[in-house]
Amino acid sequence: MPLPSNRIGQISESDLEGWEVYIEALRLKREGKDVIMTSIGEHDFDPPDETIEACKNALDNGHHNYTDIPGKPDLREAMARVSSMALGVETKPSEVVAMPGGQSCLYAAMQATLDPDDHIIVLGPHYVTYPGTIRAAGASFTVVDTYSEDDFQPRANLIEAAIQDNTKAILINTPNNPTCAIYTRETLEAIADVCVRHDLWVISDEVYWSLTNGKHISPMAIDGMRDRTLALLSMSKSHGLTGWRVGWIASTEAMSYNFAQHNLVSNYGMCDFISKAAEDALNGDFGLEMIADTYRSRGQIFLDALGDTNDIRVLNEAGSMYFMIDVRAKASDSKQFAFELLKNELVAVMPGESFGPSAAGHIRISLGESEERLKQAATRLRRFASSYTE
Ligand code: PLP
Repeated sequence: MPLPSNRIGQISESDLEGWEVYIEALRLKREGKDVIMTSIGEHDFDPPDETIEACKNALDNGHHNYTDIPGKPDLREAMARVSSMALGVETKPSEVVAMPGGQSCLYAAMQATLDPDDHIIVLGPHYVTYPGTIRAAGASFTVVDTYSEDDFQPRANLIEAAIQDNTKAILINTPNNPTCAIYTRETLEAIADVCVRHDLWVISDEVYWSLTNGKHISPMAIDGMRDRTLALLSMSKSHGLTGWRVGWIASTEAMSYNFAQHNLVSNYGMCDFISKAAEDALNGDFGLEMIADTYRSRGQIFLDALGDTNDIRVLNEAGSMYFMIDVRAKASDSKQFAFELLKNELVAVMPGESFGPSAAGHIRISLGESEERLKQAATRLRRFASSYTE
């Protein structure tokens, strides 16, 4: 039998651990246990009614064909408008290319910046799929850790120390999953300084841009960064469309040409009726404020229910749809803590280790449950932490 390529084997190679807690939570749920699923970044609500209506209209009105490879012109125009708003940088339709979700954008960004044997710096802890997209390009990476003590803001001197002769790019993610850190202007200026001096790309994952109470700053808006930033945006979180697979890369016209070439050979353009509905949703800001308000209010309810406690510490309260919680005062092994929390209180969270060693001693809780259930999750977590001993 012929063998699959080495590359495909490397993609799924995993150096992260801790997903067992999530798998166990799913098992308990299937058994009928009422687990509060605060583990993954999925909405517990449907897309906005207007968007669903727009999709039905698109189906009824003949949107069934192949679409323009970089995205339909009207969709690109809508994406450019939202890019200008999200990034704080005037963006033209010719500077965006539509792709099926932020994940596709990550894949394309690696293909477009890294040759085999190139190197990229990734900030840790990080979203789980990053390494696979780099390996798929045949490149290598170094994880530069960020630390709880710095509220997980990156240190530019550590990034610079990790640069090698073959380093081409830095991958950053603000607002950050899992740490919820929103990179400050000072952090971004320090990273920009390193990128400009070493002539690096910044692949900037900004899929949570709308969930920050207006605090998001894109690296693209920092001096010297306009043309070296590839900003990845998606409708999954901001517009409540995880399963619709709509994202885009905002960059330069020259890079957009490359991304269109990538689309040509990978996805051959977006789905027609989804494109039309996405265009309407972007133009009408369908769900944008409602979703941001929902997570803001859920976050507050969770924090209020948790109350003051010295047992655990919630970090970075305004970024994305999660909370990162430091449990080191109670547990050296947060995976064990998460397992016991699941077993005793039926609350499923992700142990920090799932996102890399620098998040060890932390748990990540997602706000993808109702206010009432998040209140219960906070009460149970507080009760559990107060009596927990290793
Ligand atoms: N980047 C980060 C940090 C994420 O958390 C996710 C999804 O959870 C993605 C990218 C991919 O999002 P999508 O492909 O749904 O746009």
